Amino acid sequence: MKNKMAIYLMLFMILVGFSGCTQVNVTGINDEASTVEITTESVTDPATETTTEPTTEPTTEPAPEAVILDQIKTSKIKPNELGEIMIIMYHNLANENSSYARTIESFKADLEMLYKGGYRLISMASFINGSIDVPYGYTPVVLTFDDGHSSNFKYIENGDGDWIIDPDSVIGILEDFTNKHPDFGKAAVFYLNAGNPFGQPKFLSEKLDFLLKNGYEIGNHAFDHEDLSKLDASGIQAALGRNVKKFMTLEPALEMRSLALPYGKMPQTNDLKPYVSKGSYEEITYENELSLLVGWRPTLPFYAKGFDHTAVHRVQSGDGDMQLAWWLSVFEENPERRFISDGVAEWITIPEQLSDKLDLSKVNMEKVLIIE
Ligand SMILES: [Zn+2]
Repeated sequence: MKNKMAIYLMLFMILVGFSGCTQVNVTGINDEASTVEITTESVTDPATETTTEPTTEPTTEPAPEAVILDQIKTSKIKPNELGEIMIIMYHNLANENSSYARTIESFKADLEMLYKGGYRLISMASFINGSIDVPYGYTPVVLTFDDGHSSNFKYIENGDGDWIIDPDSVIGILEDFTNKHPDFGKAAVFYLNAGNPFGQPKFLSEKLDFLLKNGYEIGNHAFDHEDLSKLDASGIQAALGRNVKKFMTLEPALEMRSLALPYGKMPQTNDLKPYVSKGSYEEITYENELSLLVGWRPTLPFYAKGFDHTAVHRVQSGDGDMQLAWWLSVFEENPERRFISDGVAEWITIPEQLSDKLDLSKVNMEKVLIIE
């Protein structure tokens, strides 16, 4: 075990060395305590050593990498944070399943399948930042809902004249499910157009407020669901910026960090593509850190080589080929393809055989752990 550990650390150091990030020193390996200490040069900087008076008891909390290595030793599942992640695309709930709609029962069954299959909800912001905070051994998943259908978030009047969240709307179902299973996490992103989001204008402010206070996110889906492939530079900026302006007016705290491309369509020419990510309309500037396609497959995290933040794939909900149920069985049969968390949000743990797929320009190598 000691030899193996040394090999992993050697690999780690070699990679760090090649990457030009030479801030890591291995200062000791203590097999008895099962801890590996990796400290940075800045910790042993003499300037700070001589001026810092210890005022508290030394901390006994093990370093994150030691925690991860301990988990690996005692677990059958090994982390793979260069595995695939599903960003699932939903639209509305309806009486029958169709290419875009899901019945209430099917949507509840999807959540159940994900939960039992070891998937845990993360926000789009976490996906964008790469700070994926799910427990060791679990797989993150992002839920997305396009078009602001009324079945996504509806208020209904109960018998006492009070307005309550419809328990059969997406938000009602998600709230109920995550109350029963708090360890599932709570997150979803709604890609909205300006027209009549969620269908009840008098409750719109209240709904946006509820979403933001309860861990949900709002994303851009263009002001009027414009087909960006048919617009010029000013048309694209108007479609995206005007939508941001409308929602900022409604809810100043609202931030649209990502875009679901209407119809999954990009502008036709390369000179127009940058306006999908950044642009301005009147006094508003917007930035989409990520743009989603309609898609048919899972994605890799942003620090995988070749990741294109302007064209990120989604998995469509549904039971057909290359839809959610299909991909769940693919991951069941090929668990090595799946993103498996190391349980520490700020660290990235990857199997050695995938290390050449890591985009070194996008990660802090001090917080990357390469394992066998
Ligand atoms: Zn749409």
